[in-house]
Amino acid sequence: MNKIKIIATIGPSSADKKVLKELMLNGMDVVRLNLSHADYKFCMEIIDKVRELNKELGTNVAIMLDTVGPEIRTGRFVNGKAKLTAGEMVKIVKEEILGDKNAFSISIPEAIDGVKHNTIIKLDDGKIELSVVEKTEDYLLCKILNDGIISDFKSVNFEYLKMNIPFISKKDREDIKFAHMMNVDFLALSFVSSSEDILEVNDLLIELENDHIGIIAKIENEKAIEGIDEIIKVSDGIMIARGDLGVEIPVERIPGVQKAIIKKCHLNGKISIVATELLSSMEKTPRPTRAEVSDIANAVLDGVDAVMLSGETTIGEYPVLTLQTMEKIIKSAEGNVDYLDLLDRAIRSEKEDITGLIAHSVADCAYRLKAKAIVVPTMSGYTARKMSRFRPSCPIIALSPNPETVKSLTLNFGVLAYQVDELNSFDKIIKIAKAKAVEILDLNQNDKIIITGGYPLKEVKHTNFMKIEEL
Ligand code: PGA
Ligand code: MN
Repeated sequence: MNKIKIIATIGPSSADKKVLKELMLNGMDVVRLNLSHADYKFCMEIIDKVRELNKELGTNVAIMLDTVGPEIRTGRFVNGKAKLTAGEMVKIVKEEILGDKNAFSISIPEAIDGVKHNTIIKLDDGKIELSVVEKTEDYLLCKILNDGIISDFKSVNFEYLKMNIPFISKKDREDIKFAHMMNVDFLALSFVSSSEDILEVNDLLIELENDHIGIIAKIENEKAIEGIDEIIKVSDGIMIARGDLGVEIPVERIPGVQKAIIKKCHLNGKISIVATELLSSMEKTPRPTRAEVSDIANAVLDGVDAVMLSGETTIGEYPVLTLQTMEKIIKSAEGNVDYLDLLDRAIRSEKEDITGLIAHSVADCAYRLKAKAIVVPTMSGYTARKMSRFRPSCPIIALSPNPETVKSLTLNFGVLAYQVDELNSFDKIIKIAKAKAVEILDLNQNDKIIITGGYPLKEVKHTNFMKIEEL
């Protein structure tokens, strides 16, 4: 079993239950449903299938819903497009209409409220520019500055004014409520630009009384890169969303940004995810390119927690083969990871925190003793996450009576989480830890495992023991 986790986005190529089952048996840890493409009906069907398969296979594959975010797009047009001519006028209306050369709608109508006279509006990644000449309650009247064809769902950029739009659009609000209703495990937030955006979502989750959904901030523009330190503090994890990021910033900056973010996440004990185009050539061919193999291996060597497949599994021709290929590349790269270096990196930023200090000793000890597993009984997942931060060379088996804790650990480096009965005595903890390690891993006589946690489980908030057991 690999330490680096895999998220696979589900779409037409992978929606079939047989394909989902293959993906679940071949190392997919988290299913992503992207609300920019998938509707509620599709999401509900997939979630049902994954949950049924989890029961059937005894797996704990988690669900991630990904929001559309505050990205403004054009609505639909008659015949899908319209020709805009320089010097003529066009209206952007709040009402949802089928657009033409005289008027069209946008996906976030309330954005119109923040627009001022003379604002420049860029359509389709800047291909067409408009200048606002009149603003009313219901529409913007704009002068077209250059010729062009505009079509369905193209980007709309309000120069300098993007920040006046609330982070949570009407659609995102409905989508977050849907995520809560479906009891999904992770919420990936598109186009986050500051920590305030995450706090806005947190307020909504408090309103919904949802205290367990994991928040993943997607970094896909310059503003988010600038605010990364604050964003990391308030998120459970960060996704380096290279697809949109590569449009918003020069593409050659991506490797540097990626490395820096992985490191910051590691030092802060937050999940890092590298996303998009990791194996995109495999959408059409059954073999990866050398560059793709190197890209994945480098993310692993840098200490990433998880990688993500998008087009490869949504519309690609080889969803299962792509996943198997990803597993092989990760497995090989994990053999080259400098665990002591990652351990050193982590301890240098550790505060005087008892859980952290014990976790460091455990990881160090596991490395020197060549222990086969670290077993962590945990209520909230706190000890398991701390343990993961020290990037031990052996798997971390997390045992929790709480099913939400089990799912919340699916993206953390090296953690294999399982639900168990109440762990109410020390003897029971040791007994279950040993039995679970033997059940999951291929262990031999004299193999060592290290058990670490806080006891009594529900009473102490930090780790207070480590015990080395020889089988
Ligand atoms: P998306 O996010 O697939 O939702 O666009 C990932 C990315 O932009 O890389
Ligand atoms: Mn994106």
